[in-house]
Amino acid sequence: MDFELTEEQKIMQETIRNFAKNELEPVADELDQAEEFPWKIFKRMAELGLTGMILPTEYGGSGSDELSLNIAIEEIGKACASSAHLLDSHLLLCASPIYHFGNEEQRQRFLPPLAKGEKVGAYGLTEPDAGSDIGNIQLKAIKDGDNYVLNGQKTFISNGEVCETAIVFGNIPELAPRGMTAFVVEMGMPGFTKGKKFKKLGMRAATTAELFFEDCRVPAANRIGEEGKGVRIALSTLDRGRIGIAAQAVGIARAVLEKCTEYSKQRIQFGAPISKNQAIAWKLADMATEIEAARFLYYKAAYLADKGEPFSTNAAMAKVYAAELAMKAATWGIQIYGGYGYMMEYPMQRHFRDAKVTEIYEGTSEVQRIIISRAVLS
Ligand SMILES: Cc1cc2nc3c(=O)[nH]c(=O)nc-3n(C[C@H](O)[C@H](O)[C@H](O)COP(=O)(O)OP(=O)(O)OC[C@H]3O[C@@H](n4cnc5c(N)ncnc54)[C@H](O)[C@@H]3O)c2cc1C
Repeated sequence: MDFELTEEQKIMQETIRNFAKNELEPVADELDQAEEFPWKIFKRMAELGLTGMILPTEYGGSGSDELSLNIAIEEIGKACASSAHLLDSHLLLCASPIYHFGNEEQRQRFLPPLAKGEKVGAYGLTEPDAGSDIGNIQLKAIKDGDNYVLNGQKTFISNGEVCETAIVFGNIPELAPRGMTAFVVEMGMPGFTKGKKFKKLGMRAATTAELFFEDCRVPAANRIGEEGKGVRIALSTLDRGRIGIAAQAVGIARAVLEKCTEYSKQRIQFGAPISKNQAIAWKLADMATEIEAARFLYYKAAYLADKGEPFSTNAAMAKVYAAELAMKAATWGIQIYGGYGYMMEYPMQRHFRDAKVTEIYEGTSEVQRIIISRAVLS
C-alpha cells in the first residue's frame, strides 16, 4: 500500500496551498460578509486551471485525476470554504456529468467555456417538495418536435444566481415513474429565469438561488443521456460531488485545528496557556486524529473513482464522517476560544457556520447512512 502522493500531486498541492494562503485566506471574512459571488476569485481559479481541472485537455481542462482535484478542494476549503463549495458545484456537479454522460458534440459545445471559467456551471435537482426524495421532482419536460418544453422550479441551487450553464433534471410524464431526464439549459433561453437569492447561515460567498422554467424550450440536442436515465446521472454526479464535500469539510476542520492550536498556546488562564489543560489538548488530539482518518476516507473514494471502480459507498462514508468531524471541530473550536469564539470579530464563527451545511447538501448525513447501511446489509 502506497500512502505517498505523486510528485505531480505534491507540486499541485503546494501551488494551491500557496494560492489559498496568500489570496483566499486574507479575503475569506470579507467575502463571507459581502454575500456576493466572488468573481475575482473564480477568474483566478480559472487562471490556475482549477475550473476545468478534471476535464481532458481537448475540452479545455487540465486532465488531472479526481484525487488531485479533491486535494486542491481541501486546500481551498481550509482558507475559504465558500470558494471550495462554488468550485465543487461548478466542476463536479455541472461540467463533470456533461463530460461523463454527454455525447461528443455536447462535450465540445459545453465544456470549454466551463473549463476555462468563461461560464459558471450549476446543478439543478432539488425542488421545494423534493430534497432527499429526488424521485418526487415535479419539473415537467414535454417533448415537442425537436425540443422539450420545461415547466417547473428548482430551489437551493448553488451558483444559481450567476450560472450561464446548468444541468437540470425533469420528468417526462409519459415515462413515469421512470421519466427523470437530464438537460443542459443555458442563460438566455426564453422561459429560463433566476428567482430569489437566499440569505444563508454560512458558505455566504457561494451564492444560492432559485431557478424557474416557464414554457422553456430546450433543444433535444441538449438532452444529456437517454430519456428516463436521469436518476443514474443525478446520483452518480452526487457520488463524485460528495468526495468534494468531504475534502471541503477536512479543509474546514484543518483550519479550526490550526487556529485552535495557536490560540490555546497563547491564551493564558490560571497563569498558564490553556493548551496545558488536558481538556483542551485532548480536543486537539482528537481533531488531528479524525482529520487524518477523514482524509484517508476521501482519498480512498477518489482513488477508486480514478480507477473506474465502484465508489458510492466510500464517497458516502467519506462525506458523513468528514462533515460530522467539521461540525464537531468547529463546535469545539468555539469552546476553545471561549467567549471570543462567540464573537463575530474572531474566526471560529465562520468555520462553524460553513461546516453545518456539509451535513446537509449533496445528501444529508441521514441519507449517507441510508446508502452505507444498504451496502452493509446487502
Ligand atoms: C447551501 C445549499 C446549497 C445547495 N445546493 C444545491 C445545488 O446546487 N443543487 C441542488 O439540486 N440542490 C442543492 N441543495 C439542496 C440540498 O441537496 C438539499 O437541501 C438536501 O438534499 C436535503 O433536502 P431538503 O432540504 O429538502 O431536506 P428534506 O429532504 O426535507 O429533509 C429534512 C430532514 O429529514 C431527513 N430525512 C429525509 N428523508 C429521510 C429518510 N428517508 N430517512 C431519514 N431521514 C430523512 C433529512 O436527513 C433531514 O434531516 C443545496 C442546499 C443547501 C442548503
